[in-house]
Amino acid sequence: MKKTLLLAAALLAFLAPAPARAARKLRIVTTLSDFASLAETVGGDRVEATSLAKGYQDPHFAEPKPSFILKLHDADLLIVAGLELEIGYLPPLLDQARNNAVHPSGKGYLDASVGCEILEKPTGQVTRAMGDVHPYGNPHYWLDPANGRVIARAIATKLAALDPEGKAVFERNLATFEARLTEAEARWARALASYAGTKVVTYHSSWPNFAKYFKLDVVGYLEPKPGIPPTPQHKLEIINLILEKKVPLILMEVYFDRKDPDFVARKTGSTVVMLTPSVGGLPEAKDYISLFDVDIAAIVRALGGK
Ligand SMILES: [Zn+2]
Repeated sequence: MKKTLLLAAALLAFLAPAPARAARKLRIVTTLSDFASLAETVGGDRVEATSLAKGYQDPHFAEPKPSFILKLHDADLLIVAGLELEIGYLPPLLDQARNNAVHPSGKGYLDASVGCEILEKPTGQVTRAMGDVHPYGNPHYWLDPANGRVIARAIATKLAALDPEGKAVFERNLATFEARLTEAEARWARALASYAGTKVVTYHSSWPNFAKYFKLDVVGYLEPKPGIPPTPQHKLEIINLILEKKVPLILMEVYFDRKDPDFVARKTGSTVVMLTPSVGGLPEAKDYISLFDVDIAAIVRALGGK
């Protein structure tokens, strides 16, 4: 793998510089499919967006491919989650892509976490022993529609800076998106109205923002520490916790193995709900708004509603 990456980097040295901006679409690369969806929604046909991680992959560990270097080399804009979510794969790719515009100090770089509500900021020192804890707070913040609104606005501002002629189009698309989101928020509130305070256990800590916004109560995790797979000892603790607190749901991300959640569910009578944390993680989650439609419908179904 390393060799192929180096080869791709070497090839880049011979490529001609990218053509002038005027006649072509803004090329956007995002680490998450959710940002690609928002960028396409706001950018319309003035942009093309591609995501490095797919919605059905663990966003902490996108497998680096040589094609990623080429995409980053050609990109006008890179949108990242930040908060060290991508620290495991992005920095070496960026180094080899030889495109200063999309480096953290470049004009084509957008850290989507800026301005968003970030939860679980550690107060003490973060050590390896704590597992894969992110020192700047929980990086799964896009799973809060209010943060989605903040991100969409930041994208519109950034696109207008990179493509001033498109400013009016981006503003119009943003307004349409925000109106759709407001409508959707009312729909989601109605769907979940009778389930406020429902206790849930989640596999990874992907859902603090989601749970806060949609009024679910996360009481435990299948992972003993973030990024550490369930141990037999921890599974027993979670089984006891679920029985003691009468937790009806175990929420799990589509990219984990069902084996442990199913085991815990069998021992407790709790229900496993498979959720997608990102656009494209399930086929019906086609864009940022339908992502929530899909996940909320699954939760409501599991709780006996429709
Ligand atoms: Zn995480």
